[in-house]
Amino acid sequence: MTTPLSDKIKNIIRHNGPLSITDYFAICLADPEHGYYMTREPFGRTGDFITAPEISQLFGEMLGIFMVHAWQQHGSPLENVRLVEIGPGRGTLMLDMLRVISKLAPQLFDAAHVHLVETSERLRGVQRITLESYSAKVSWFGDFEEVPEGFTLLIANELFDAIPIRQFVKTPTGFRERLVTLDANDELAFGVGVATIDPAVLPAPPGHEPEGTIFEIAPARQAVMQTLSERLRHHGGTAAIIDYGTMVTSYGDTLQAVLRHQFDDPLAHPGEADLTSHVDFEDLAKVARASGVQINGCLRQGDFLYGLGIAERASRLAKDKPFEQQKLIAAAVDRLAGEGAGKMGELFKVMAVSSPNVPLAPFRKID
Ligand code: SAH
Repeated sequence: MTTPLSDKIKNIIRHNGPLSITDYFAICLADPEHGYYMTREPFGRTGDFITAPEISQLFGEMLGIFMVHAWQQHGSPLENVRLVEIGPGRGTLMLDMLRVISKLAPQLFDAAHVHLVETSERLRGVQRITLESYSAKVSWFGDFEEVPEGFTLLIANELFDAIPIRQFVKTPTGFRERLVTLDANDELAFGVGVATIDPAVLPAPPGHEPEGTIFEIAPARQAVMQTLSERLRHHGGTAAIIDYGTMVTSYGDTLQAVLRHQFDDPLAHPGEADLTSHVDFEDLAKVARASGVQINGCLRQGDFLYGLGIAERASRLAKDKPFEQQKLIAAAVDRLAGEGAGKMGELFKVMAVSSPNVPLAPFRKID
């Protein structure tokens, strides 16, 4: 199987030797010529996957309610208020949030500058069209560090899964870095390099995993988490991070490719399939805590959305609507918040971090 990008990657490997998983991941998503996010329309029924805001307006509305609540808990500041989204996709989440914020907290709406952090020029164009009615408030940045300083309310949905990871494989001589190389038929294949991992970062108790066990680390995700935590610590605010993943660091290969709503071999269609991996929320929480911000907690998406009142909001939305539409609304709630295969309520997690310490519903734990 070849794609324009697989030819390019094979040439790079012939030239320099095998690639780390992190380099392969980054090239697949962000190659300026053939990278997935640079060339594709990944979202929606005709794309490769559907994200929560594309399923129903209820998702963005709940996050709008959450952000208004966070703003109030922080004392309703009106100076230099930054409403930031990293990786806004089609801009749908921000559109639904802004509608709710303008109704519930007009003062926040008037004070807020909306800053979108997006690496893909093409997706910026889509976002500009979605958010046309708010164009006077919205500005774009290529990197979070460029976002002007100030009190920050930040959201990132399915961003961290798209930031590259490194993988290590258990071998007789310990954990070694997993690589992408060429096999005897000149096809892309996984290989093993020499780099090892500090055993201190392995989940305890290490030593009993079978050979071939994979452990993933994500320095690039840690870097983003650290930067945004430091921003919150210096200027105050709250961030909500939403993604699929685990609340506890564990072993396992979670690198996954999705092409037209089906799982695909991660090496089969570079640049044409979406490439992601599960997010280790325990690790992100450690980074945030070390940067001096408070972890409000981490909830399953279903518990978060029900806790914010998605069921009540859905009943209001469905009231006086034709039966078919009521069924669609109920199905959307089930897909976003329900448990089991194909639903997002269990697999997806929501972690909120704040500075200074403020209690935020529906999270209970304050540490
Ligand atoms: N949040 C959206 C889209 C998720 S897809 C939704 O829920 O529908 C991932 C998004 O992150 C895309 O918009 C992609 O272009 C963007 N992205 C990926 N890596 C990024 C990075 N390092 N900085 C900013 N945006 C990034």
